[in-house]
Amino acid sequence: MTDIFDSTILCSKCNSKMKKQDIIKNSFLLRTVVCGKCSERLIHPVDEQEYHKFINLKNKEFRVKMRLVGNSYAISIPKEIVLFMQDQEKIMDDMVRLCFEQMGRVSLNFVEEEKNNIHKIKTINNKNG
Ligand SMILES: [Zn+2]
Repeated sequence: MTDIFDSTILCSKCNSKMKKQDIIKNSFLLRTVVCGKCSERLIHPVDEQEYHKFINLKNKEFRVKMRLVGNSYAISIPKEIVLFMQDQEKIMDDMVRLCFEQMGRVSLNFVEEEKNNIHKIKTINNKNG
């Protein structure tokens, strides 16, 4: 499959050749092309669309109920969040790291620490096989 960013893109403002440049916005990797002359920037349409989906989900607050299951409490993670992450990461481990971050806050970590800053990863090698 050819990507539109693989072809030569000319700046709509000054007609110069644009160069590929990845940027990170809100921990999200965006493929862009930038004009060396006038600094005009174009975001890859697919990435832009995904980024908007991400921002919408990011700002959404879910109220979920705690249930006692054996000796633990279980909460349900909304499907749309998990599906979005799976779609971005392609492969996602079913093991999640949970941390009592601060009083009143528990965090869940779905990706490996070193990849934490960039949520858009093409493939993740599962360490546990
Ligand atoms: Zn330009």
